Amino acid sequence: MFKKTDELKVMRDPIHGYIHVEYQVIWDCINAREFQRLRRIHQLGGTFEVYHTAEHSRFAHSLGVYEITRRMVNEVSGLKELSEMDKVTVMVAALLHDLGHGPFSHAFEAITPVAHEEYTRRVILENTQIHQILSGVSEDFPEKVASIINYTHPNDLLNQIVSGQLDADRMDYLLRDAYFTGTSYGNFDLERILRTMRVKDQKIVMKESGIHSVEDYIMARYHMYWQVYYHPVTRSYEAILHALFQRMKDLAQTNPAVLKDLKMFLPFLKGEDTMQDHFRMDESAALYGFTLLSESEDAIARDLARRLLDRDLFEYKTIKCEEDLARIKKEVAALGYDPTYYVIHDEASQRPYKPYKSGEGHNIYILREDGSIKELSLVSDIVNAIVKGNLKEDKKAFYPIG
Ligand code: ZN
Repeated sequence: MFKKTDELKVMRDPIHGYIHVEYQVIWDCINAREFQRLRRIHQLGGTFEVYHTAEHSRFAHSLGVYEITRRMVNEVSGLKELSEMDKVTVMVAALLHDLGHGPFSHAFEAITPVAHEEYTRRVILENTQIHQILSGVSEDFPEKVASIINYTHPNDLLNQIVSGQLDADRMDYLLRDAYFTGTSYGNFDLERILRTMRVKDQKIVMKESGIHSVEDYIMARYHMYWQVYYHPVTRSYEAILHALFQRMKDLAQTNPAVLKDLKMFLPFLKGEDTMQDHFRMDESAALYGFTLLSESEDAIARDLARRLLDRDLFEYKTIKCEEDLARIKKEVAALGYDPTYYVIHDEASQRPYKPYKSGEGHNIYILREDGSIKELSLVSDIVNAIVKGNLKEDKKAFYPIG
């Protein structure tokens, strides 16, 4: 039913060796303008300011999530038996799951109240090249793809492949981010995980003999969060992005004339953005905007934009109580800065794995030799220790000292 490409298409990839494409619809989506846009958005936002080789794009990550999904539906017993329609739908959803990201990922959400998942849905369902390609399969195909990204597809296995606690998205970004930051924390044995993955009672499960590879994956998550994703210097860069976006938002209300040359940001600041505005808003546009802002007549916007471009970042301190924060605000004000934009409070906390109560989300399940399944933390002492241990939290203030 699905048209195949004339020959197997392959793309070299440092994580997976090759990305393999045999369906025309996948190939067409890769070549669509909305997917090509992902080349202009870093996978790790401002992390390249800390790990200087973390320059990989959402384009590369999206291909990787597609490739892991393709292997899951071709190699895992229980998924191999899915219909061709389900297989292609989930492969397309994996490829397109990050389409809605704006520049600098979550920091951009300070400028628009619309979450990236909602933009992803809109790119799939509204008037775009991607929508045209998907509608060419069948009228309801775009909806089917979007429902996996919303976790509402009637075949729950498909939702679990793209977004569970051991899903193609997380597996690709951990391996890819570890590779491109040059850290080894994120490495785990993807081959072993794919070999020991099964399906039982409409759940993706892991054979007990593969438990060590899953433990390793959980530990990889734990280390990547604290060594890479929550690195304080990355957070300092993001704090300044946040402050600058906030300043622009405030200027749009109080002194919009200052922003008149910033056409790329204006529709978002006014809440009037169209899909075309979203398409144009990538990191090259944002960085050009920062260059313009670094010469702005508004002193705060000018200084914050210059700091981003020159990597003149804020210092940081761990905050233990409200008084710590109040004291820093006073010191910063005494230096002549407005604490609204120059003291950014940020809290990071993370559990690498959290078992949900039934119905709340997808757990990782272990398939025991007697055929029963058990939630991971009940079988693994290592994971149990993480689940039972205190939630690791880090509260910091980011601010200039001179
Ligand atoms: Zn992703």
